[in-house]
Amino acid sequence: MKNIPEYFGCLVFDDRVMKANLSAKVYQSLRKTIDEGAKLDIGVANAVATAMKDWAVANGATHYTHWFQPLTGITAEKHDSFISPSPDGGVIMEFSGKELIKGEPDASSFPSGGLRATFEARGYTAWDPTSYAFIKGKTLCIPTAFCSYGGEALDKKTPLLRSMEALNKQALRILHLFGHDDVKCVRTSVGPEQEYFLIDKAMYDKRPDLRFTGRTLFGAKPPKGQEMDDHYFGVIKPRVAAYMEELNEELWKLGILAKTEHNEVAPAQHELAPIYSTTNIATDHNQLTMEIMQKVAAKHGLVCLLHEKPFAGVNGSGKHNNWSIATDGGVNLLSPGETPYENAQFLLFLCAVIKAVDDYQDLLRLSVATAGNDHRLGANEAPPAVVSMFLGDELNAVLEAIENNTPYEGTQKTQMRLGVDVLPKFNRDTTDRNRTSPFAFTGNKFEFRMLGSSNSIACANIMLNSAVAESLKIYADRLEKAENFEEALHEMIRKTIKDHKKIIFNGNGYDDTWIKEATEERGLLNYRTTPDCMPHLLDEKNVKMLTSHKVFSEAELKSRCDIMLENYCKTVIIEANTMVDMARTQIAPAVEAYTRELAKTFAAKKAVDSALVCGYESGLIKRLSTLTDRIAIKTEELENALVELQSQEEIISESYMIRDVVLVKMSELRLACDEAETVTAKKYWPFPTYGDLLFSVR
Ligand code: ADP
Ligand code: MG
Repeated sequence: MKNIPEYFGCLVFDDRVMKANLSAKVYQSLRKTIDEGAKLDIGVANAVATAMKDWAVANGATHYTHWFQPLTGITAEKHDSFISPSPDGGVIMEFSGKELIKGEPDASSFPSGGLRATFEARGYTAWDPTSYAFIKGKTLCIPTAFCSYGGEALDKKTPLLRSMEALNKQALRILHLFGHDDVKCVRTSVGPEQEYFLIDKAMYDKRPDLRFTGRTLFGAKPPKGQEMDDHYFGVIKPRVAAYMEELNEELWKLGILAKTEHNEVAPAQHELAPIYSTTNIATDHNQLTMEIMQKVAAKHGLVCLLHEKPFAGVNGSGKHNNWSIATDGGVNLLSPGETPYENAQFLLFLCAVIKAVDDYQDLLRLSVATAGNDHRLGANEAPPAVVSMFLGDELNAVLEAIENNTPYEGTQKTQMRLGVDVLPKFNRDTTDRNRTSPFAFTGNKFEFRMLGSSNSIACANIMLNSAVAESLKIYADRLEKAENFEEALHEMIRKTIKDHKKIIFNGNGYDDTWIKEATEERGLLNYRTTPDCMPHLLDEKNVKMLTSHKVFSEAELKSRCDIMLENYCKTVIIEANTMVDMARTQIAPAVEAYTRELAKTFAAKKAVDSALVCGYESGLIKRLSTLTDRIAIKTEELENALVELQSQEEIISESYMIRDVVLVKMSELRLACDEAETVTAKKYWPFPTYGDLLFSVR
């Protein structure tokens, strides 16, 4: 294998390739589009398309696709070959600027939540020049946004780009007030840490629940789980190491900055973190990473599980969204500065985030809500469903000093007067101790920890960017009119701290007393499930904020709310059907077969000597028989609940019924089956157990 620097990004039409393959004029024009969003003329698009095609063909591609992120949560692609007939009966390889800029996939099978009228099945895809095209297999993939003919977004990229633009606009206003007229553009960056499980493919194939739903719907607790804490950061086993090695290579070829890998808390659980990049690119890369993770696993006889809760009783998988704001000059606006002025600016941006997280707790919560993630949040392995922020003791003390106009009792006693005093240096290392906070300040970035492992990071970042844009807008409106800038700034920061300190919590987020304090004393929101939070997307304040920044139209919000609830319902219904099927066609027959064997033994023993007690057999037969009955009853109850569900006309009432009835019936059925597993001879059990699944990859 070649050196990493030699092959890194070899499958990406990146800046290096552009520079080498485009004329200076075309390159500059494209760069202007990428950096400043300037409109691209068709002449330039044609030149770029030709260069892209030549490069792709030279690298083995035969097809191209507009690669997009519909609301299914995964990526979509439709391949067209480059071939075009030539007059002599042969073909030439062609790709035009028009084909690069716009595609028209048949969109009728993608969720639109009523946005796309049935007679207008087509949507269109539009090139996102800010994310580089790349080659996957034999296909040139062009990152695109996906819209209906009416221009409504049908994907996750469009609102993400809009939210980045909203934040850019408001942050620039603030920076200009601080005299930074040189800053042209402000962007958010994200480094998503991705957790996953690796299990053996042969075992996976034997489990319909894993195949159909991505998680185990049955399974008794194994004798050993994660209680020894011996897996976290432990030695990586050879098969896993080989997987990670190939995964890294594939990701590096695609220009993805895979950086860190280690074992996680649960057995068979691992994590991969890239170096952070601009949010829309980080989002594309995370989608690609999840896809490549699964592909490479297949080559190693493994399956990569991205579900939030593949196994009950052991930790589930999440994704940490490390987020910061930076200028085009590379200045991180969430980094405390060296001078009083820089500090004031830092505190203003910090306060903008504090205000945003408090005002839009509901949007952040619902941005990570899925049926899968409902199993994690609040289950003492992931942050609770209550959104709060961790700032660390030192920064907290600074804010308190500002709020109360008292001296800051840090390393040196200083009065905190913004714009006048230097912010005391606080030690970065002390800021990252709290791992239980949903939203933690970690020195120069925030880490939003509520995302589920299979979530697209787009949703969380759309809400985060928009909410922060709103805080900044309110600040900019005030400051632009202020007679005394410093006075106004100081007062505004003080007011933010006073009004929003309820969202700041530096203690243990897994503690039950916190939930009580959060909800009863502080009045923070606690939406435990997807049906609880999702409808709040349409609350007046949320619609107003998101539409005013042009991130979503009202119609788009309605459609998204419907689609998310539909996803929730469909997911659980598939799980419930799978359970019914497995219980009836695999589990009950297995228990019966074992019971029959016991009964035969019982009869055989009695035939030898009718006075033999045979207590083992008779006791077990009775227990198994009771369990089989319970399994049969619970299966039927679950089935009935599913039938009743069909009478629900509104998606919201359907989701409530799933939350309150279907999921309850599912866990009752599981309980009976899991107990049966613990008393049935292993050779009768129809699929691999938790012990098999979690400890088999060496
Ligand atoms: P942890 O202790 O959580 O593992 P790390 O410092 O290793 O934290 O970083 C985790 C992730 O945060 C990485 O993906 C890293 O690239 C990303 N990250 C670091 N700095 C920033 C930043 N300024 N903005 C966004 N993400 C960042
Ligand atoms: Mg982290």
